[in-house]
Formats: sequence, structure tokens, C-alpha cells
Amino acid sequence: MKAAHVVPGKPELAEVVEWDEPVPADGEVQVEGLLVGMCGTDVEIVRDGFGTPPPGKTGFVLFHESLGRVVAAPMGGDLVPGDLIAGVVRRPDTVPCSACAVDAWDFCQNGEYTERGIKELDGYGMQKWSVPPKYAIKLDPTLGDLGVLTEPTSIVAKAWEQALLNCRRAHLVPRTVLVTGAGPIGLLAALLAVQRGLTVHVVDRATSGRKPDLVRGLGATYHSTVDTVPEVDVAIECTGVAELVWEAVRRAAVTVLTGLSGDHGTFPAERLVLDDLVLHNRSVVGSVNAGLADWHTAADALAAADRTWLGGLITRRVPLDRFVDAMERRPDDVKVVVDLA
Ligand code: BGC
Repeated sequence: MKAAHVVPGKPELAEVVEWDEPVPADGEVQVEGLLVGMCGTDVEIVRDGFGTPPPGKTGFVLFHESLGRVVAAPMGGDLVPGDLIAGVVRRPDTVPCSACAVDAWDFCQNGEYTERGIKELDGYGMQKWSVPPKYAIKLDPTLGDLGVLTEPTSIVAKAWEQALLNCRRAHLVPRTVLVTGAGPIGLLAALLAVQRGLTVHVVDRATSGRKPDLVRGLGATYHSTVDTVPEVDVAIECTGVAELVWEAVRRAAVTVLTGLSGDHGTFPAERLVLDDLVLHNRSVVGSVNAGLADWHTAADALAAADRTWLGGLITRRVPLDRFVDAMERRPDDVKVVVDLA
């Protein structure tokens, strides 16, 4: 079978290779890989050397946003051949720490976790893969290819959980939301906010094209500048751009940061931390990865979403043989997926 193999930091070595079929461990689910999604982390792995191959290897199989079809599953379980699934990204540390012990590996405390396609484990960019049943998230079969959006949705499901926890701290029942960034994470964060019945504002620098249309299609308000964004109860920050982080924080009682930025500028943090956060009891929390419960929340949120709207998020599909092309950012791209068949 074929796989998308990369060496972190060496884009010239990214290539499709012949790869041994996985030998499923006892009780594992065997899966035909259908699609994988390209995200900023994958690009950082290939171009900037983020990520860690398995011990003793210089490279590994890329991709952590997966969609597959079950080929064989253990008897008596929840899965049967033909089911659509997404594979969980992170595996708990083996100690385990108190977070990993309760399947909250996204809060792993000792950094010994592993991640498929990112940290020490081969990813899902292969034509056949296997996972223990617990890490196979069963999807609504009517989602079809849209199930590839489960992993990014799990990220925003966790971010929402963090937002609500921090609202409770301040006795706040959230009604209004700001999402910064209208990429896949921002749009899915907006979807989950609309599903919660909130009034949603999304800001992005695009002035025309698909992103404003997708935001309006949700019934949310689109802003191409922060100047028109009102104060809100919750902000979900999805850009990692320091100036926008600040614009979100100063407008929201609770801000959840999901965006990472490779660029480290000289944005002044002093005024932000010393005055504004303290004087207004604001919460700013970081949020990465997703626990098992978030994955199931994500699968439910996608099942409840309008299929045409979700379909608008997938803007380009490239064959496995040309997976490197998926890294190119075209102006109107939202989510680019790689077809493993
Ligand atoms: C993935 C997370 C992962 C994080 C850091 C993100 O792109 O969605 O699952 O934990 O990168 O490796």
C-alpha cells in the first residue's frame, strides 16, 4: 500500500512511498483509509521541522485528520465493517498521569503523550490503518466525506467546553460570541456556537469570497475588520496573531486561545496582563488537542449540521500521489483534503 512520508523540516523529501500494511494488534479495528485533511500543523512539520518521528527514525507518515471505513472489527463491539470512523490523534502517556488516567490526554501533564502523524507515531496518511476500538470514533454514515472534519471539530468542541467552564467561574450565561479567523477551526467554532443558540460574530481579513458567505450561511455576522466587532461574552481565538488575540481579549469576558503562531513578534503584553485582565476579571485560557468526550461531541455536532454548509468547508481535494500540493495555500482555500484511494 501507499503512504505519505515526510521528514520534518525537509520539504524536498516529502514523497509517496510503498509502506508495509499494518499488522493489527489483538482486538484492533482494521480500517481502509479514505481521506485525510491538511492543516497548519502538517505544513509546520514538513516546512519548519515541527513534530517528532518515532524513535530511531528520521521520518514518518504524515496526517492526523482522518476518515476511514471499518474493514474488520472485534466481535461484540460497537463497530461493524462498513462503518465510517475518525481516528483519535493523541495517545496517553503510559505512567499514566492523572489526566491521561481519565482519558483527558489532551491535558497530559508530563509531555510523554504521543500523537499520530505529529509526535512519535506514524500518522493516518496511509491506505490502511488500524486502531484500538476506543480510538475509533464512529460517525453518522450520512456524513460521508464530511467526516474528515471530525478532528478539527474535536478541537473546537474542547475549546467550547473550556469557554463554558470559565463562564461558570464568573456566573456568566454566555449569549454573544466572537470568533477570530474564518479558517476551518474558526468556521467550526462558529458552527458550534450557532448550534448552542448564541449570537455569533466572526472576524477575518478576507473581504469577499467563500469565507464571508460561509459565515453568513450560518446566520452569523461577518466582519472584515475588528473595528466593527462589539463586546462579547466569549471569544474563541483561532488565528494565533498577537494583535488579534489582544482585540479578542479586550472585548470578551472569557477568551479561549486555539491558534498557534510560528512568528514571535514584539507585541506589548504588559498593559494587557497588568491592567485589563485583572481589572475586568477576564479569563484567558489556552486549549490544545481534544479528550475522548470532545471527540464524541464533535461527531454529534457534525451529524446535526447542514451537509451543504459543511461541504462548503472542503475547498480542494488532491490525490495521495500529489499530497504535497495540498500544502499550497490558495486564496479561497478553507480545508484541503487528500484522497487516499
Ligand atoms: C492537532 C492537535 C495536536 C496539536 C499539537 C494540532 O494541529 O490538531 O491534535 O495536539 O496540533 O501537536
